[in-house]
Amino acid sequence: MIHPLLLASAVFIFGAILGSFLNVCILRIPLGQSIVNPPSRCAACGRRLPLGVNLPILGYFILRGRAHCCGAHLDSRYPLVEAGTATALTALWLLYPHHLFAIYALLVAGLIVASGIDLDYLVIPDALTIGGVVVGISLSYLVPSLQGKEDPVDAMIRSSLSAAVAGGSLWLIARTASWFLQKEAMGIGDAKLLAALAAFLGWQSLPFILAVSSLIGTIVGIGILKQRKQKLGVKVPFGPYLALAAYLWLVGGATLASKYLPNNFQ
Ligand SMILES: [Zn+2]
Repeated sequence: MIHPLLLASAVFIFGAILGSFLNVCILRIPLGQSIVNPPSRCAACGRRLPLGVNLPILGYFILRGRAHCCGAHLDSRYPLVEAGTATALTALWLLYPHHLFAIYALLVAGLIVASGIDLDYLVIPDALTIGGVVVGISLSYLVPSLQGKEDPVDAMIRSSLSAAVAGGSLWLIARTASWFLQKEAMGIGDAKLLAALAAFLGWQSLPFILAVSSLIGTIVGIGILKQRKQKLGVKVPFGPYLALAAYLWLVGGATLASKYLPNNFQ
């Protein structure tokens, strides 16, 4: 028997290494570059990084935020993504049985990459959103308990319907808002991302995800307005808020809902 604490530490280290790979994905996917080849290079000067210099989380602090090769300033997002992935995965490991942990870890990895790209470019690639819908529906068939079902076909139907309802309703909200504001209020990418989330988490997660992401978006939006004195209506990425809300659903929202909502609502 391996001590549970040792296993959790292993998951944390795995998460940190995965996070450093997710950083590469965030940088390279929007540029259409391969995410495996070439191996890690300095984002500033392009030189190959010697092994050990790109140690997850710690590397940034050992190098004091500067590239080893050319002294270029390193984005503090790198260690944040690594530490965030490690922490997020460890919490899921402690909460869920192994097979669900594996699926949710994959979902969280996709969400972190989608959020990073959305922050940088204000778009989320279809490979992640539409791809997420396909993967979510397929995994529901393979692991029906993901949808709280025993029959694979039942689970797949539930996942597909959830994705359709989620994508459709957010698309409708976005269209209506755009019509009122006479400009694009919300990216269609957000609707596709919500569809992917629903394919994994089921439609019962939608009210929570929409409410919590709007709340976080409002709080952050007010903060940004106060800080930068930006004009209202500047396009902001909504993907990261959807992602964070989905994660909060995984680590507590679902339990809360099952406690306080009537059974027939689940
Ligand atoms: Zn360099």
